[in-house]
Amino acid sequence: MKNFPGARYLNFRCTGCGNCCKDPLLPLTQDDISRIIERTGDSPSHIAQVVDKHAIHMDDEPEAFAMLRQGKRVLVLRHEQGRCIYLGDDNRCTIYTSRPLGCRIYPLDPEFNKKKKLRRLTLVQATECPYEMDGNVDTEPLYDLQQRYWKQHEDYNTKVAEWNRVQRRRRREGRAAQTAREFFTFLGLTDSEPSNKRRVPATTKSADSKSAAASSASPAKTRKAKAPAKTRATKSRTVAKQKRRTSR
Ligand code: SF4
Ligand code: SF4
Repeated sequence: MKNFPGARYLNFRCTGCGNCCKDPLLPLTQDDISRIIERTGDSPSHIAQVVDKHAIHMDDEPEAFAMLRQGKRVLVLRHEQGRCIYLGDDNRCTIYTSRPLGCRIYPLDPEFNKKKKLRRLTLVQATECPYEMDGNVDTEPLYDLQQRYWKQHEDYNTKVAEWNRVQRRRRREGRAAQTAREFFTFLGLTDSEPSNKRRVPATTKSADSKSAAASSASPAKTRKAKAPAKTRATKSRTVAKQKRRTSR
């Protein structure tokens, strides 16, 4: 039996209820969007929407806010009628193998030591999560996923900082900030083909493996009225200031 805080969550199993694909909003990176474009052919502006600080709990993560014409905004996975646009009617993800890294790690929030050994494991609950405790979380993939998640977000934040420097310069020159569409272009995100030609048949995940956590690891999200950010593998304050609760 492992002995560290939250060791019991190594038995976490996602029940595939779909709740975390509804309320919480999920901050995206250019890599997340690029992966979804490759899968679906959807345009960046279809995949992502921009929200301000009043819509998401990310006050302690100012580096994720890009200066756009309408103000400072965070890119999040688009929701329609209170749910992610890629959530199927059966509550399964229709882009499962291409889903954002934040979706893969949610709701697990692991802490590893320098020897890559797990020393703490908590569950971030951005919404009601009716999990079961008969699973088996594999820590090696979880570590790799968290590293990948952090790297991807650090790269994205670096791009945002570069973009914001350009916008500040424009402001000094008396020019307006650029648009969200121009931000997508700056990130290297473009439509390669019309979406109706590239859409790939949905691959749904098994009902018991909504999050990567179910099979090995998991990711993060946010919502309206200051939605919680669907969790993410957090690197200190990198994780949205969502209301985090260590559950059960
Ligand atoms: S797992 Fe799929 S349906 Fe759920 S929020 Fe992520 S992309 Fe959307
Ligand atoms: S992680 Fe929790 S909230 Fe999300 S689908 Fe699984 S059981 Fe439901």
